[in-house]
Amino acid sequence: MPDLTEALAPGGRIGILGSGQLGRMAALAAARLGYRCHAYGPEPDAPANQVSDAATVAAYDDLEALSRFAAAVDVVTFEFENIPLETVHHLAALVPLRPGAEVLAICRNRLREKDFCRGASVPTADYRAAEDPDSLRGAVEAIGRPCILKSAEMGYDGKGQVRITEQSDLEAAWTAMRGHAAEAVGIVEAVVDFRMEISVIVARGADGTMRTYVPVENRHRDHILDETIVPAALPETLADRAEAIARHLAQEMNLVGLLAVEMFVTHDDRVLVNEMAPRPHNSGHWSLDACVTSQFEQFIRAVAGLPLGATDRLSDAVMKNLLGEEAGDWAKILAEPGNKLHLYGKTSARPGRKMGHVTRLIRR
Ligand code: AMP
Repeated sequence: MPDLTEALAPGGRIGILGSGQLGRMAALAAARLGYRCHAYGPEPDAPANQVSDAATVAAYDDLEALSRFAAAVDVVTFEFENIPLETVHHLAALVPLRPGAEVLAICRNRLREKDFCRGASVPTADYRAAEDPDSLRGAVEAIGRPCILKSAEMGYDGKGQVRITEQSDLEAAWTAMRGHAAEAVGIVEAVVDFRMEISVIVARGADGTMRTYVPVENRHRDHILDETIVPAALPETLADRAEAIARHLAQEMNLVGLLAVEMFVTHDDRVLVNEMAPRPHNSGHWSLDACVTSQFEQFIRAVAGLPLGATDRLSDAVMKNLLGEEAGDWAKILAEPGNKLHLYGKTSARPGRKMGHVTRLIRR
């Protein structure tokens, strides 16, 4: 296996599992640092493939293709968590993987994620596991209605989530949750009466150094991130606490890379972790235009074993996602000279699909 005790020198090859927009923006940042990226994913002409030095178009469980991919790169990272664990273990035996397989195992499963938080004394919404319809009944009784049933795996942007009210039939709720992820067990969560949803992105380098980005507010529409407001309008004590939580989790995971921590801020000033992603995150896209070091460059620096860059914010900002047909407004968006437009090179604009984003800088 290649040795990564030293930093990866410019010219080195970084493999990225997943070929969506996060891989694309990471590959662009890597290219600026003189690296060559190799994207791996099942879709031809994917956003990351268009800007990478090399691309493998193959399934995530194609072990032969994965072996060839591993042999062609110096280090592997990933841009999403829903990768089969066998794939991760196969790769980890062949090539340095950053972050490691344990981090992925935690963050791709909502139950393990919340158990991990509990083990690290980090507060979350009250929750219980639901392995089958019977244990769902017990879990709902313990948490109380209303509550939310989520599939433990493969859920994102509200997929695989069912709200359970007084009227809900639990068999139907279980079937609806299972319809999304056939094999998945469930997690029942108390409904949090939050006043704001925020996230903090923390980077941790190979030497254990950490740097955080300022907490930001995330506003969702139909469970999909719509806008990120930078910074979140929070008292300093709460912002500090949110940053401390993100650092603590990254440290406890022994992470090398980036960790995005989504949190709820409640009306009584509690900060509860909702979920974590060990990679660049949609709520960090503003950093491309408003920070000394963007989350994508920081991610590549951590994965390559380089020193981390400064995360200072040069400007406040609002980032808006362009979903589906909204990206068709590109000419109008560009007509406003201060708008920073980012398009991901996707050809079909399905409703709700993330096609691009636009960041508006707000002078302080
Ligand atoms: P998630 O996929 O867990 O990020 O959930 C998507 C969205 O559903 C979140 O951004 C929240 O707006 C909402 N949500 C998820 N879990 C809860 C909860 N326990 N209480 C209240 N709202 C939630």
